[in-house]
Formats: sequence, C-alpha cells, structure tokens
Amino acid sequence: MAIHLHRGDLPDGLEFGEIVAIDTETMGLVPGRDRLCLVQLSAGDGHAHLVQFVDRRYEAPNLVRLLADPGRLKLFHFARFDLAVLYHYLGVECRPVWCTKIASKLARTYTDRHGLKDLCRDLLGIDLPKEKQTSDWGAVELDEAQLAYAANDVLHLHRLREALVPLLEREGRLALAEACFAFLPARAQLDLLGFDEPDIFAH
Ligand code: MN
Repeated sequence: MAIHLHRGDLPDGLEFGEIVAIDTETMGLVPGRDRLCLVQLSAGDGHAHLVQFVDRRYEAPNLVRLLADPGRLKLFHFARFDLAVLYHYLGVECRPVWCTKIASKLARTYTDRHGLKDLCRDLLGIDLPKEKQTSDWGAVELDEAQLAYAANDVLHLHRLREALVPLLEREGRLALAEACFAFLPARAQLDLLGFDEPDIFAH
C-alpha cells in the first residue's frame, strides 16, 4: 500500500476511475461543530490519497469536482456521516453513493456487527487495527499510525463492495439497497437540519 498526503486539495491530474472510495476524519461526530480535518480517497488500487485541511479554509476545487462528478460512484462506509460533513465544509453534494454499512445491514441480518473492522474480518479475512479512531485529527503533523489508520479506511472498500453485491443479490435486496443509497444525501441533509432525533420516519 502507498499513502500520499496532500495539503488543502488533491493535486491536478490525479485519476480515480469510475468508483472512488472515500472517508473523512473530523474533530468529532457533530458535523456543524467538529471541523473536517482529512478526506481520504482510493481508486481501489492500493493507493490512498489523503487531503489534509489544517487552516480551516475549505477551498478544494479538484476534490469538489471529483465528489460532484455524477459519472463517478462514491463508495463509503457509513456514508450518512461523511456526506453531511462534506456538504457542510465543502458545499458539495456527492452523488451517486454506495455505502458498505447499509449494504451489510440489508444483506447480513444474521449479525449485528457491521463496523468496517467487522466487515474486513468477516468478508475479506483482513484484521484492521482500529485503535487510532479517537486520535487528534486536527494535529498539523499526523503521525505514521494515524496516516496508516486513515488509509485503511478507504483501501478495502472496493473489495467489500464486490463481496456485498452478490450477498444483496442472493437476498433479493440489491434494488432496496440502491434505493437507500439514493436517499442518503437527503438523510445527511436531514441530519444537518436537526431532523436526526426523532427521525421523521418514526411515528
Ligand atoms: Mn475513518
């Protein structure tokens, strides 16, 4: 695996193919409060590109162009959070979207373990280290363990999707999954507006 760290935006001329895996790291779990620190991307080729935001200036035209490209599938694990963060800080609505967590919940009803680490272990036989999840992503100099952790969050998503599609097909839930993915940008908007608890779909 190779990790490429970029400050402020992706460099010109990088190609990510038709499916790009994306993850974000923030200062916490409240999108409007906790700033976006890092956006990780991978084409599924073993390379992870990390875009670091250090000065709270979110002008990243190359990154935004990629995220907004309707011809490119944006692949996340728990897209709901990342979509809200990306919209809040970069003003971009990512479409179309695919989410490995939603796919797993729809296809793997025999377990309640749908974390990235669980999916990598169960579907790919890969043991991910997870201990850096609560580290300080706002640091100007990220350490090696943080960079490796951040990269791991996007490096396996393509293979997870390839493992989950046949499971969704087998269970007759691929179309339902796609309907859920299409709704995710709206779900993220609802979160940003405060319609998260109670959920508007609750009675
Ligand atoms: Mn992550």
